[in-house]
Amino acid sequence: MKKVVILTTGGTIAMVKKDESVVPYEKGNMLISEIPELSKLKDIKIEVREFSNIPSPYMTPKNMWELSKTIDKVLEDEEVLGVVVTHGTDTLEETSYLLDLTLRSEKPVVCTAAMRNIGELGTDGPRNVYSSVLTVLSPQSYGMGVMVCLNDEIHAAREVTKTYTSNVATFDSPGYGPLGIVDEDSVIFFRKSLTREKILVEKIEEKIALIKTFTGDDGSFLKIAVKLGYKGIILEGFGRGNVPPLVADSVEEVIKMGVPVVITSRCFKGRVYPVYGYKGGGADLRKKGAILSEHPIGQKAKIKLMVVMGKTTKIEEIREYFERDIKRRPLEHG
Ligand code: ASP
Repeated sequence: MKKVVILTTGGTIAMVKKDESVVPYEKGNMLISEIPELSKLKDIKIEVREFSNIPSPYMTPKNMWELSKTIDKVLEDEEVLGVVVTHGTDTLEETSYLLDLTLRSEKPVVCTAAMRNIGELGTDGPRNVYSSVLTVLSPQSYGMGVMVCLNDEIHAAREVTKTYTSNVATFDSPGYGPLGIVDEDSVIFFRKSLTREKILVEKIEEKIALIKTFTGDDGSFLKIAVKLGYKGIILEGFGRGNVPPLVADSVEEVIKMGVPVVITSRCFKGRVYPVYGYKGGGADLRKKGAILSEHPIGQKAKIKLMVVMGKTTKIEEIREYFERDIKRRPLEHG
């Protein structure tokens, strides 16, 4: 019989309220197999396998990479149509994007979660799992890339981000919109993500720092990150990808040490682009050797740099992966 494997990693979907706070429940992951609607699916076996039972802020690059390799193995089984991953919402966008970049199979993989814990009034976990299984079973899901399905919406892993601390309608793809919806028992796709890419690697670089600049930043954090052994840095700048002037000096210094610096933006829509030539502007940083990330969201760029640096540590080769859209601009280092 064909099957859908649900790989559980933990998160609120596997948590309960105890003494006024929400904590992991040791049997939480396995409760997923008791969702009644799953046993009503015709000719499909649902198999629940526990990968971990951790809050998603505990996720590490190592865990994510292990999960990717585990899913690839699971998908090798011809009987497996696809995989649903349950996860905490906090870092779901990171894990799902790493899977999207690195999984070898094109079989559907859908990540889901819950904003309300087990037993909480109006808990969203069971419905989200059911909708995710329906999404895996949709004939249109093959080749769609890794998707995130919550609150009846289906999003592309590359585009999705958590936007609300508490609301069940937390996941959104700013500037893109959902790929589709789940309505009753129907899965309806509106579009395919055209920005999706695969970077198949044998390993990843785990030591990537994500640093957010701020007004008055003197660039110390950037230099400290290198001293702490970070091998690549994502620098979240302002607007088009601009930073204060002293940070520009640090960027230059760090790059001279051979550490790639990828500029993102605290704006989550639009492109980072070399528009401003003043000291610290995106065009100036690029001349100093910084890489501009075409996707503005810092945590997404961090995942991508982890993967790209599993392939190459050469700054100009790394640039190729991040600046596909701005290649026509000459570099003029120095
Ligand atoms: N803190 C939880 C986690 O990410 C939140 C959730 O799952 O919604 O594990």
